[in-house]
Amino acid sequence: MRARIAIIGSGFSGLGMGIRLKQEGIEDFVVLERAEELGGTWRDNTYPGCQCDIPSYLYSYSFAPNPNWTRSYPLQAEIQEYLRRCAEEYGVMPHIRFGHEVQESAWDQGGQRWRLETGNGGLTADVVVAAVGGLSEPSNPQIPGLDRFDGTVFHSASWDHDHDLSGERVAVIGTGASAIQFVPRIQPQVGALHLFQRTPPWVLPDMDRPIADGERRLFRRMPSLQRLVRGAIYWGHEATVFVTIVDRRLAKLLERQGRAHLRSQIPDPTLRAKLTPGYTIGCKRILLSNDYYPALTKPNVELVTDPIREVRAGSIVTASGEDREVDTIILGTGFRVHDHPSFAHVRGREGRSLAEEWRGSPRAYLGTTVPGFPNLFLLVGPNSAGGFNSIVFTSEAHINYAMNCLRTMDRRGLAAVEVRRDVYDAYNRSVDDRLRESVWNAGGCQSWYLDAKGRNGVWWPGFTWRLWQRTRRFDIERYRVDGRLQRRAVDWGEPALLGP
Ligand SMILES: Cc1cc2nc3c(=O)[nH]c(=O)nc-3n(C[C@H](O)[C@H](O)[C@H](O)COP(=O)(O)OP(=O)(O)OC[C@H]3O[C@@H](n4cnc5c(N)ncnc54)[C@H](O)[C@@H]3O)c2cc1C
Repeated sequence: MRARIAIIGSGFSGLGMGIRLKQEGIEDFVVLERAEELGGTWRDNTYPGCQCDIPSYLYSYSFAPNPNWTRSYPLQAEIQEYLRRCAEEYGVMPHIRFGHEVQESAWDQGGQRWRLETGNGGLTADVVVAAVGGLSEPSNPQIPGLDRFDGTVFHSASWDHDHDLSGERVAVIGTGASAIQFVPRIQPQVGALHLFQRTPPWVLPDMDRPIADGERRLFRRMPSLQRLVRGAIYWGHEATVFVTIVDRRLAKLLERQGRAHLRSQIPDPTLRAKLTPGYTIGCKRILLSNDYYPALTKPNVELVTDPIREVRAGSIVTASGEDREVDTIILGTGFRVHDHPSFAHVRGREGRSLAEEWRGSPRAYLGTTVPGFPNLFLLVGPNSAGGFNSIVFTSEAHINYAMNCLRTMDRRGLAAVEVRRDVYDAYNRSVDDRLRESVWNAGGCQSWYLDAKGRNGVWWPGFTWRLWQRTRRFDIERYRVDGRLQRRAVDWGEPALLGP
């Protein structure tokens, strides 16, 4: 198989790229998806209560506003349905190859193209757009004995819906963004729930509400009003940068709100002490919930802060030696962010893989290109997610950049472009400098944002509109180019840019 552009992944990013190609009249592309359905995060995470914590009007493509959201924060099934509808309406479906897991991508320097191996045959492509997702590979903890547990074990990202939790003794490991959503849902159903917490999260009141029919009708009739609301929500979220990067002392205001929320929902001082975070708010993801704390006060719930020592055939033993018998273990233990398996399978100009290039600390120029890896674009790559803003915004910025690069390559008849190493190094030094005093690096917590070497490889170091601004144009002067003409130069006309 041959395609000009191979997009890997059919989540928000991969589909968005496909849609933009279609809008520019480019048909010569495929979307390779390992699963049998599209949607990425919102296909895989079907745990009870799964919901986005960015408002619906913002958590959607800027070019495809949806006036039909039923809640102010979208539920998993509704997001997946939205993505399916977009893929159909914009004509991307015929380009998707389901069941095609990319197992190897290697740059062929002689042929100036990528060679990809999938579980379903090979493919060559001039350009690869890797939209494999930062949170697409569940992370299973290295707890001694976990593999010898006799009961049921599953990760929140691959929820076992056939398994009935009714009346069971259930252990939940982890108290992050997923656990605080599903714990209140399963608590009334299970016999006993032991919640193993390493670090308490900061939890703020959840403002989610149903959207009334009248509001939906209004936005259907007046899309520009919805655009205005979307803009206001975007700038509201953008303001969190003042807390995370500009001056983290401002976090005290939010902490006051978090403590008041905790006090109002947890009357027992001993339980409250266990749930009180000892680090600056924002250092780990701020969570929104009105029913998490109340669930922990129920008689069938125990919050365990004693670290886990080992798992036995039918129980979990903590450091103090206490042994709790359980039937099922649910892992709410997050994702492999810094060692995503795909990093080892992408080989560049010199035969080295991304994993070898990065050695545990992923980096990219503007979060999307890497020296030694020509014609490769990572969507929502290292240091590009915007603190407490929508990841879809980052995706669209990167899509703009990749589209502008394709346009430049066509105009100039270029076969290959590759970011210069000096540009990449200087850029990443400045990212590290700007993140040094951020709440994520200096807020006093251990989080998945930091890799094993302590580098923050997740967040964009500033206001996200700056990422949008910097990706509006393809800065070819920062790239090595191979000017060998592969095809006639083509002019696409003026760029159509996506905005906030
Ligand atoms: C539970 C959860 C809650 C979240 N909540 C929010 C939120 O509130 N706000 C927010 O902004 N973000 C949130 N996120 C982040 C979310 O991942 C992004 O917002 C967005 O959905 C990412 O889209 P994506 O297309 O980049 O990646 P994904 O949605 O992860 O899609 C990647 C796709 O690539 C495919 N793929 C991976 N490897 C291969 C391969 N080798 N071959 C072929 N296909 C492959 C996967 O199967 C998947 O379909 C959340 C994530 C999770 C897990």
